[in-house]
Amino acid sequence: MRLIHTAEVLSVGSELTTGETRDTNAGDLARALTEAGVVVARMSSLPDDEPALRAAIEAALGRADLVVLTGGLGPTPDDLTREAVAAAAGEEPVVDRALEGWLRRLFERRGVPFPEANLKQAWLIPSARSIPNDRGTAPGWWVDRPDGRVVVALPGPPREMQPMWTGWVLPRLAERGLGRSAVTVTLRTTGIGESLIADRLGGLLARDAEPLVATYARAEAVDVRISAHERPGWDGRAAVEATTAQVEGLLAGHVWARGTTSWAEAVAEALDRRAWRLSIVEVATRGSVTALLGEGLADRIAFAETLPDRPPAHDGHEADPAHLARRVLAAGGGDVGLAVEVRPRGGDMAVSVAVVDPGGEHRERRLVFLGGDMGRGRAAITAAAVLLARIRA
Ligand code: AMP
Ligand code: MG
Repeated sequence: MRLIHTAEVLSVGSELTTGETRDTNAGDLARALTEAGVVVARMSSLPDDEPALRAAIEAALGRADLVVLTGGLGPTPDDLTREAVAAAAGEEPVVDRALEGWLRRLFERRGVPFPEANLKQAWLIPSARSIPNDRGTAPGWWVDRPDGRVVVALPGPPREMQPMWTGWVLPRLAERGLGRSAVTVTLRTTGIGESLIADRLGGLLARDAEPLVATYARAEAVDVRISAHERPGWDGRAAVEATTAQVEGLLAGHVWARGTTSWAEAVAEALDRRAWRLSIVEVATRGSVTALLGEGLADRIAFAETLPDRPPAHDGHEADPAHLARRVLAAGGGDVGLAVEVRPRGGDMAVSVAVVDPGGEHRERRLVFLGGDMGRGRAAITAAAVLLARIRA
């Protein structure tokens, strides 16, 4: 039997190609397939146009072992994925009596007359099995091609597509034999740009290196992803671990978390280890620090306050961040006081951070790229990084 090594994902719906709806399905499927060791060679979005769909399915079947479609399984005349898959397979759809019974019962249960338009959701072609949908009226199709390739069609709404994919399709693909399983570690870094990381990692970033090391600049971190596929006679996991240790050494002081950990999650975990709570005061940030951390820290925050400007001197003390950190800790309670102040500098933003905790007092100044919204967002990340390092110290 043909193993599934490569896949293409086709997202169907004119709402996607007009920009009305963002395609989240393709990315979700690509991530799951990649984790399962299947190489996703192409992802495309297509309008509700039968000839275009049919051509895309045929072309994808000429290249990949698996073609996954989402969308276009609704009851209305513009939903044409079934028609297109049937045409690509050279088969005629017929109403499946079992599916029809299931559909009619769904409407009876709700006391709604059965709209005949929905009957096409009971269609099958001879080479298709239906994929049950517990959350809607659109069953999916699993189509076995004579050459061992597979076409899977799932409904567009993510809340219907997701459980069908995870609960039904993935296990059956795994039975069929998927690609080599993949091992991945993601290191989240801060305070170091992508190009500097590239300098430090050097040859580790080679396109043909194994494990593969790649960097991804995101808003909250530059991620370094270390991944490998298992193969006979080679321990991919051990190789990924060894390379990860090497990368951590080269980027010492910059790695703050793994995987998809958020700043709030990392700070929450560090606070919990010490059973500490946090008080925050931020100046001229428009609340960006609390926006970044607040929701995730929940009641680990004893007190938080945002000031538009630096307050006037108080008791003979300039209200600089160190003073504000001590004051917010005394007034707000908690174990750690964090004060953050930003000032525009040229097109960029100067950030002053002060942290007061039972271990003492720490101040840091940094310059972040860009002003405005972007600068305030980066200032919050800088503050979170300084805070996290102090709590962990
Ligand atoms: P359909 O299966 O074509 O009836 O899809 C119905 C709805 O699912 C659309 O109106 C979108 O809201 C949603 N949807 C369809 N395709 C996608 C996609 N690729 N990503 C996210 N949502 C989608
Ligand atoms: Mg549609």
